[in-house]
Amino acid sequence: MSIMPMPTATPPDVSTFDRLESRVRSYSRSMPRLFTKAEGSWMEDAQGGRYLDFLSGCSSLNYGHNHPVLKQALLDYIAADGVTHSLDLHTEAKEEFLAELDKTILKPRGLSYRAMFTGPTGTNAVEAALKLARKVTGRQNVIAFTNGFHGMTLGALACTGNAGKRGGAGVPLSHVSHEPFDGYFGPDVDTADLLEQRLSDPSSGLDKPAAILIESVQGEGGLNVASTPWLRKIADLAKRHGALLILDDIQAGCGRTGNFFSFEEAGIKPDIVTLAKSLSGMGLPFALTLIKPELDQWKPGEHNGTFRGNNHAFITAAAAIRHFWRDDKFASEVKAKGDFLAERLAEIAAPYGDEFRLKGRGMMRGIDVGSGDLADRITSAAFARGLIVETSGPHDEVVKILAPLTISREELATGLDLLEQCVTAAMSRPYSAAAE
Ligand SMILES: *Cc1c(COP(=O)(O)O)cnc(C)c1O
Repeated sequence: MSIMPMPTATPPDVSTFDRLESRVRSYSRSMPRLFTKAEGSWMEDAQGGRYLDFLSGCSSLNYGHNHPVLKQALLDYIAADGVTHSLDLHTEAKEEFLAELDKTILKPRGLSYRAMFTGPTGTNAVEAALKLARKVTGRQNVIAFTNGFHGMTLGALACTGNAGKRGGAGVPLSHVSHEPFDGYFGPDVDTADLLEQRLSDPSSGLDKPAAILIESVQGEGGLNVASTPWLRKIADLAKRHGALLILDDIQAGCGRTGNFFSFEEAGIKPDIVTLAKSLSGMGLPFALTLIKPELDQWKPGEHNGTFRGNNHAFITAAAAIRHFWRDDKFASEVKAKGDFLAERLAEIAAPYGDEFRLKGRGMMRGIDVGSGDLADRITSAAFARGLIVETSGPHDEVVKILAPLTISREELATGLDLLEQCVTAAMSRPYSAAAE
């Protein structure tokens, strides 16, 4: 099979969606095609167009689309009439997942957590984490960070920075202090020291926090990376000030930065970890809040939900852990691909000097091109060439690469060559709104 994308030039008739689906839809606006199939790093449309996927469901498809091992495990389970829905009853599928998670992921990393299955979205895992932190500490305030993204339900949204997203709430979003993330004031200001100072000053006006909620790489916020020393300082000050450290690893976890958890390099052990997106391995809805055992102070049913424990996702998640994380091979492949990605992005950005900035870590990288308009021209040109790639950041100014971690070196190189052509084209042409 060719590894060159072959996009469909003319958009299909999408009037059904215009007529019947809510205006709230977003990704489909910049990629108006009718998708029918997906395999590995590729998506296909109804007209036979082939697209290389550098978005991967916003890092929900770290192992690519329909990975054969995961697909077969699910097909076998369904064919044998395995339980599909079971509220939070004990099932064999759940037992298999819990045992595999403990044996292959947690134990070897010296981690001990209870697994809390929340509703199947990331935002619900964050809601559960916030509720638990407030319950355990008896405090209300939570510290979140500038450019953080934690989900769209009210508690998680209150911790999210983006004004456009917050605006949808319709009510005040309260009980959260937004503190400057690592590097927010440039390289010379250590924002962990600023936070320490404010928390230590009884007259600073900053209420004692129940939790400090953090992403070690901010996915939606523009691929801002928290350095290891900074993360360690935050973990340490959380402990000293009686706050729980909640690490939101929904986007950066499940191998995206090279290790299973994004915080492994920093050597910290968060009190609570949230996972979702790629946890099922196949893009099935599935979220998890990991809790240090002594913090598991829930009353039965105190955070409830109909869909807590998606058995199909237990099967594929267990299969993914078994297949990819049994040894270090996959992690070292991801790290090598991440290095290659970093090199190529540096080459692509080099001609533009200080106008462009490299962002991110591992296989979660991008280029800050300085403006949302320019980033949009680049990603639109990419889609016209059959490359699916999106933006992030406060002004959507970061072209963000989230290729499947399973992508071949050839596919990755092909996509980056295409991206380079799009950057060159966008930079050489005088700006016109009608571009592409
Ligand atoms: C996507 C995301 C969420 C929210 O997950 P949903 O499944 O969309 O609710 C929360 N935190 C981070 C870091 C995310 O990237």
